[in-house]
Amino acid sequence: MLFGTKDNKQPAFHINNEPIEICSSYMYVGNHVSDTGNIFSALPEAILQKCYRSCYKIRDYCENLGQLLPSVAVHLYNTLLVPIMEYGSEVWYNRSAVLKLERFERKFFRRNLHVRQQTPNLAVYGEYGIYPLEVRLQGNVIKFLHRLENMPPSSPVKWVYDDLRSLHNCGFRTWVTKAFEIFREIEGPMSLSFEKFLALHGGKMKNIVKKTLLDKYRSNWFDNITNVDLNPKLRSYNEFKTEFCFEPYLNLANPKLRTAIARFRVSSHHLAIETGRHAKPKVPVKDRLCDTCLTIEDELHHLIECKKYSSLRGALFTEAALSNSLNSYKVKSLSSNLASATF
Ligand SMILES: [Zn+2]
Repeated sequence: MLFGTKDNKQPAFHINNEPIEICSSYMYVGNHVSDTGNIFSALPEAILQKCYRSCYKIRDYCENLGQLLPSVAVHLYNTLLVPIMEYGSEVWYNRSAVLKLERFERKFFRRNLHVRQQTPNLAVYGEYGIYPLEVRLQGNVIKFLHRLENMPPSSPVKWVYDDLRSLHNCGFRTWVTKAFEIFREIEGPMSLSFEKFLALHGGKMKNIVKKTLLDKYRSNWFDNITNVDLNPKLRSYNEFKTEFCFEPYLNLANPKLRTAIARFRVSSHHLAIETGRHAKPKVPVKDRLCDTCLTIEDELHHLIECKKYSSLRGALFTEAALSNSLNSYKVKSLSSNLASATF
């Protein structure tokens, strides 16, 4: 493989007068590298192919089990798919590759939840209480940076790192640039200078980095779900989603009930507030009305106000209040009328 040459200028190589094939991409120690400017440009597609093959195998093995329980899906994701996506990430990490892999990650969970592919990313991560792949990968980069900085000067790997760092110091964008950018983002929350960070021992450093990255994501996640201007689809979600965690209702054995609750929570339904959003032309929010009550038909209206469901609602709320089976799952003040209701 030749880097940075055009086809018509490629020299020919021979061994024992036999020509050596020049290829444009190559699998090197498990990572797909290309002869383009970004040597990892074809890597995401190669990783995704492996992930899809694993998904097909999961589907084949589990097809007689019916719809996978979300907790099982999370376990399979962590044990079978994450290792594929993480492999070599401390070296190839880049934002565009991560975006492609995260799209696959969310597709996997949306399918498990049986909600629309347009369901907000924040709600998908929030329902499962899982952190996006990028959080893991950034941790891998920072841990690798720590390891490289602490390598003995005699190590050839250290020589390469030092060269990259010199290029970075001269203004070139290298792996070191990306690693330092990530470090700068967590430097403040960690309350550690670079020198103190390097002096930490492996186990402690890993714990601090992991905790900082998770806290940072969780904090941003809360800010975003409560920003209704930025995420109007989450207008109801942020009323009852108060903790970033795997939701207990996902353990319900009845898949239809599980899916129905999920769709309602993440606005993957057919109430006017959503159908109006997807209509062409788009219907203004004030005109997305319930055909019976002539007020905006959103989740709260459907759940606690709509006259169409008043008889059903009365019976179900009484049953829910009396039920012991789901007492742990409390809805936090959907409205003042339901402040003490339990499901
Ligand atoms: Zn109504």
